[in-house]
Amino acid sequence: MQIQSMHFKARAGQKLADQRLQQNLKKLSTKFVSGRASAITELDDFEGTRDAAIERRMRAIENLDVWLATFEQNATRAGATVLYAESAEDASRLVVEIAKKHGVKKATKSKSMVSEEMALNKALEAAGIQPVETDLGEYILQINNNEAPSHIIAPAVHKDKEEISDLFARVHQRPRLTDIPQMTREAREMLRPHFLSSDMGITGGNFVIAETGSVAVVTNEGNEGMCTILPPKVHVVVTGIEKVLPTLEDFATVMRLLPRSATGQSISNYVSLLTGPRREGDRDGPEHMYFVLVDGGRTGLVGSEFQEMLRCIRCGACMNHCPVYQKIGGHSYGWVYPGPMGSVLTPSYAGVEKAVDLPQASTLCGECHVVCPVRIPLPDLLRKLREKQVAQHLRPGFERLGLTVWAFVARRPALYRIASRFGVRALRLLAGGRKTISRLPFARGWTDYREMPAPSGKTFRELYRERK
Ligand code: SF4
Repeated sequence: MQIQSMHFKARAGQKLADQRLQQNLKKLSTKFVSGRASAITELDDFEGTRDAAIERRMRAIENLDVWLATFEQNATRAGATVLYAESAEDASRLVVEIAKKHGVKKATKSKSMVSEEMALNKALEAAGIQPVETDLGEYILQINNNEAPSHIIAPAVHKDKEEISDLFARVHQRPRLTDIPQMTREAREMLRPHFLSSDMGITGGNFVIAETGSVAVVTNEGNEGMCTILPPKVHVVVTGIEKVLPTLEDFATVMRLLPRSATGQSISNYVSLLTGPRREGDRDGPEHMYFVLVDGGRTGLVGSEFQEMLRCIRCGACMNHCPVYQKIGGHSYGWVYPGPMGSVLTPSYAGVEKAVDLPQASTLCGECHVVCPVRIPLPDLLRKLREKQVAQHLRPGFERLGLTVWAFVARRPALYRIASRFGVRALRLLAGGRKTISRLPFARGWTDYREMPAPSGKTFRELYRERK
């Protein structure tokens, strides 16, 4: 997928002004945020489970080569073929080659963000192969002119029921429905013939398990099963190399956190562990199974100051809780991964110069770190990316000048005292008699969509002294 992150500011401005989107994004708080909050209380020892998950993810990341080799050995022993792709483009090429080798005309897909990195649908279409998205959210986006997902677990979260009703009526050429169960039934009716006539099933992999050579696929709709064990004779798994877990026990530990953090469920509706193609005596399953394990910039993070990012389990909690994502949605970020995790991943995979505004798209409030089930220090990583940008002169001149002046003042306590005294009094004057400031000259971005509480007119030190 082409990176559009350089348009972040312009897109974010449009999204802020989009009232319908603002309404639709409220689902994040009402469904996901509250769902997670109650789901984690089911665990006797949430913090202990997090510690265990971090340890298990880091054991895999720190010895990635060893666990990938173990995985390859066991997957091959089970009859699968394991292929590695250095770049997302290489990965697409490999999948197309597999499809051509098996004479594939149609491929059903379950949701995979790595396939978005690969722009896989485009590559398949260019090779004359019809890709059909079967996750409901992805299906909605595909029939809407191949729109990009805006969330890693709820790809169509930016749409409302009315919009989808109109879309279904237009594309399905059937009477407009507004009842959600009826609408999902209609989507199932549209997808069923594709499942039955598909030659190849493509899935992502939430994890691959080294000790068994299996892939773990977690969904709520069961479409991954329809893509892999119904008729397709070929199953291709596309996933990132960092998704390896040494053992099934590691997987069980991580699964205690993944659905709870993602959708507030104790467990997802379907958790499939698929090992090798169909064996003699098996009643179903593909005749051929392939793994395409994608690097796509990941090895660049191994051993770096951003290594911790690799333990991400793609739950989406950081974006659900992010005050920035909650206001602008996922499309503003301009690539596959939005929200705080995307603001670290995009510049890390593609280069800081291609996503200059993303590390700034955060208030550094720390909520993403608080809710991340594997405690990735996202604010610290964003700060490190900002430092990199400044060091590489990627930030605008006025911003660098401002930071230089601020650093000069902050290192001189007497000067800092005078400057902060002047600052709070100026802001107080700006507020007049009001409790909030609705317009800040030179920093309009802060007040365009919200009011800033007016300071009392005294610095923290002055207030502290008075309290004493
Ligand atoms: S960074 Fe943490 S919270 Fe965000 S998607 Fe990854 S695991 Fe989930």
